[in-house]
Amino acid sequence: MSHRSITIVGAGIFGLWQAYTLVRAGYRVRLVEESSEPFERASSRWAGAMIAPECEAEAAPAIVRDLGREALGIWRAQYPHTINKGTLVVAQARDAADLGRFAKLTERHQAADARLIGQLEPALAHRFERGLYFEGESHLDARKAMGWLLDEIRGNGGDVRFGTSWDERADGVLIDCRGIGARNDLAALRGVRGERVLIETRDVRLARPVRLLHPRQPIYVVPQGDGRFVVGASVIEREDNGPMTLKSALDLLGSAYALHPAFGEASVLEMGAGVRPAFPDNVPRILVEEGGRVIHVNGAYRHGFLLAPVLAREVLRFLSDGRREGLLFSAA
Ligand SMILES: Cc1cc2nc3c(=O)[nH]c(=O)nc-3n(C[C@H](O)[C@H](O)[C@H](O)COP(=O)(O)OP(=O)(O)OC[C@H]3O[C@@H](n4cnc5c(N)ncnc54)[C@H](O)[C@@H]3O)c2cc1C
Repeated sequence: MSHRSITIVGAGIFGLWQAYTLVRAGYRVRLVEESSEPFERASSRWAGAMIAPECEAEAAPAIVRDLGREALGIWRAQYPHTINKGTLVVAQARDAADLGRFAKLTERHQAADARLIGQLEPALAHRFERGLYFEGESHLDARKAMGWLLDEIRGNGGDVRFGTSWDERADGVLIDCRGIGARNDLAALRGVRGERVLIETRDVRLARPVRLLHPRQPIYVVPQGDGRFVVGASVIEREDNGPMTLKSALDLLGSAYALHPAFGEASVLEMGAGVRPAFPDNVPRILVEEGGRVIHVNGAYRHGFLLAPVLAREVLRFLSDGRREGLLFSAA
């Protein structure tokens, strides 16, 4: 079976992980992507790329947390630039109730008092009295990770073609990872817009993602190295990926400023919005059609980076021995 040829459509984080996993398992893999430059049209390019199964459990079903824990292990084992510094969640004193609620809905955290916050993130010393520390989480630089996966796919003999569209007549198995591009074929799929800003400053240093809770505008700031930080992200039930609105920019940048006033002097390098593909329950799915000839892997929602390695593993198991016991399989 392992010499069967596989065409994967879409070089976002789902398609890249599929191709990487299958090519390493000995399949003959062709990855096609309609944009002519890598990641130009992928919503994945905008991700903060937190691998945060515990924090995401605040708003996601338990399956996302459980599979996310497994996926975190795969990222750490396979991707050498995974940064394992955990996540710090903080709130202003007036939002203490939000912190209590977050703690109740999540696991594997420890209470952080002002002293621990200052030890973990000296830049935030004396700024927050209370927080939560999720020691076991990770993060990465989204575009760097995507570039690494692409190099690995090519290095293992995968055939990658940019500027090439989905073709129903492709030989062998077709794995559809088109994200929101598959909307016309997957009736339940919807787009959820997410916006984020990339800023740069040498005046603030953070070692790990920091989430600032707020009743209306929670944000996260993810350090990307070299003084760059991703500030994100909005969750808007809309499908356009046009430029960021002034209101979103004010909200995101205002909250970053509230986290630390020195962000006020940061340079704004890039603002952008992506459309996250989502099913009604916001859990991704593997949909098998035509007796296994066409496999749709979609519905990443806010968890594309978090969950991509487990979806790729489940598809590999299905191709190897027809196993469909994972919870992510669904009738097409
Ligand atoms: C602002 C923001 C922040 C985020 N932060 C995080 C985070 O911290 N952690 C996390 O886990 N997730 C995060 N996400 C979510 C994650 O980025 C998405 O869930 C994920 O990127 C979706 O990946 P995908 O591969 O399904 O789709 P995409 O990345 O959109 O890739 C689909 C690809 O298919 C291509 N395509 C479409 N149609 C065709 C066709 N006909 N032929 C060929 N190619 C085609 C497209 O050009 C595109 O490149 C974030 C998302 C956003 C927008």
